[in-house]
Amino acid sequence: MSDHPTVAVIGAGFSGLLTALRLLLAPEGPRVVLLEKGPRFGRGAAYSTANPNHLLNVRATNMSALVEQPSHFLDWLGQAGVAAPDRVFVTRDRYGQYLQSLLREATADTASGRLTLEHDGVVDVTRAGDQWRVRLAMGREILADAVVLALGNLPPTPLEGMDPALLTSERYVADPWAWRGLGGAAPGEVLLIGAGLTAVDVALSINEAQPNTRMLALSRHGLSPRSHGETLPATAGAGAPTGSPLAVLVEVRRRAQVDWRGAIDSLRPHVQAIWRGWSLKERRQFLRHLQVWWNICRHRLAPEVAGQVENFRQTGLFTVRAGRIRSLTLQPDGVDVVWTPRGGTGPQTRRVGQVINCTGPRGDMAQSGDPLIAGLLRAGLVRPDACSLGVDVDARSRVLGASGEANDSLFAVGPLTRGQFYEITSVPDIRLQAADCADSILNMLAVKSRAAGEGPGGMSSAERLADDLAAFIEDSIAELDVELGSLKFARRVRSAWELRGRRAALGEIALWLDERRTRTTPRL
Ligand SMILES: Cc1cc2nc3c(=O)[nH]c(=O)nc-3n(C[C@H](O)[C@H](O)[C@H](O)COP(=O)(O)OP(=O)(O)OC[C@H]3O[C@@H](n4cnc5c(N)ncnc54)[C@H](O)[C@@H]3O)c2cc1C
Repeated sequence: MSDHPTVAVIGAGFSGLLTALRLLLAPEGPRVVLLEKGPRFGRGAAYSTANPNHLLNVRATNMSALVEQPSHFLDWLGQAGVAAPDRVFVTRDRYGQYLQSLLREATADTASGRLTLEHDGVVDVTRAGDQWRVRLAMGREILADAVVLALGNLPPTPLEGMDPALLTSERYVADPWAWRGLGGAAPGEVLLIGAGLTAVDVALSINEAQPNTRMLALSRHGLSPRSHGETLPATAGAGAPTGSPLAVLVEVRRRAQVDWRGAIDSLRPHVQAIWRGWSLKERRQFLRHLQVWWNICRHRLAPEVAGQVENFRQTGLFTVRAGRIRSLTLQPDGVDVVWTPRGGTGPQTRRVGQVINCTGPRGDMAQSGDPLIAGLLRAGLVRPDACSLGVDVDARSRVLGASGEANDSLFAVGPLTRGQFYEITSVPDIRLQAADCADSILNMLAVKSRAAGEGPGGMSSAERLADDLAAFIEDSIAELDVELGSLKFARRVRSAWELRGRRAALGEIALWLDERRTRTTPRL
């Protein structure tokens, strides 16, 4: 390991930015190189939009980037002159400004000078001794002691039955976030493949760019995201439902009789633990039969956005249909869509002006055309998780290679890690993961630096044993921690360890065990 370790964080959306900021918080921590191929640092896919109709789908109250300061975003909004910030769903552009202000503060900290921003795409990451060689699109290379993959969602894959000529035509938009207008493809109805949050986002953009455009959103179930209530739902501190996906569904339905939003929100702290408690078969059952319901109830629209969508529907501009697409064929003046409506009537054909793929994240790495992912897969440094939702990682976000072994210096954060955490797409979940991942990196670097400083034989066998034991306890806590859905506990122990030493960390564990004996859940 080098004298001044370097961590390369690939991707500067919310996940990468937050991981980088957490690493920089540690005094005497590593240098951080934050790499971004897109136009702006800190914005990513979600917060790059300037459209004033694109609102956050989470209330500002729950959008602080800093776990330890829950009101950080509210305070920032207050200083920016936003009235009653706790009651509003602000624009995603505003949230992007907030993230960039955090980045500006970090870069202005010239005293440390530990942060470097590299505006380039990473095309390859390979082993270089005990370091990593990170190759950039422009040909330069960076050596790093640890690498964090914060690449966001993999782009949607083309659909079956698609005319190859359509793929390269301006009438097909593969990446909904790259939609830049109807161009020469207009006029004509626009087909949105998918009816979820992405389709709603695109519908708002289309309506703003070309107000009277008709849109057909076609998805397997034809279900649309529900709306947030005007007021906060009552989330009574109900415990985690247990058992199979069906058992959980039955319990949630029971709770939902009083307040469905509250019932869904009360699950939030437990989702990762429930997911991890299911067998692979149960996870697949959930994905096949229940995920679509979970998505529309859990990831809700801001009331203003829901109102706009309802208005589009009533004026006939926006129609949602359930069905399966059979073929999409490019014609000189449009695209012919053949689809079978859900419920069995015969195929229907429609000519549209443009087709936009709004199917959302499709995590199949094997189908990703991204050179970085393809190279990592080829080298066996990453593998898809068992449900093919993204990259396989362990409970500490360490990437698992082809053999299933965790690599202690290669990490992944954000939606790429859905296979392990499932609910890891929103700010409240990712900010915890980023903090936890940064802690793991700092611990790994500290252990390596101690070992390198002391040289072979520098530690007594008793010290080595104590170190091994400590690492074992730390690993176990990380596992246990995610099982319990209480990442805060692990961080409390780790920070006790870093600031006050091993004995203090063991003291924290003893306290926790003591509490468990009486209360069964940890005090947080
Ligand atoms: C439209 C939309 C709205 C959302 N709204 C909300 C909301 O209201 N509230 C909420 O809590 N969550 C929301 N989310 C969830 C959102 O996913 C997370 O909040 C978060 O933005 C995910 O960030 P990320 O960094 O993991 O991914 P991304 O934002 O996708 O960032 C990944 C970054 O990595 C870069 N990159 C990828 N590959 C490379 C490479 N090889 N080299 C260099 N750079 C690379 C990309 O250019 C990109 O900037 C929303 C998501 C979307 C898509």
